[in-house]
Amino acid sequence: MGKIQKGIVCSVDNCDNSAIRSKSKKSIDSDILSISSDANKAYLCKTHYKDWKKATKDSRKNERARY
Ligand SMILES: [Zn+2]
Repeated sequence: MGKIQKGIVCSVDNCDNSAIRSKSKKSIDSDILSISSDANKAYLCKTHYKDWKKATKDSRKNERARY
């Protein structure tokens, strides 16, 4: 899991970097990353994977602080 073929490009809008990770589209909040693909899977480049990880961490922290 997580391994992807070479030559696959990041699914985030306006990003042409080669992807390093695949994620189910459901796990990616559209508030964090804008993905226009209709596929169930989204591919993320190094930069956007980092963004995604950071954003999910932050939102978890915020949730905890709220309750
Ligand atoms: Zn990207």
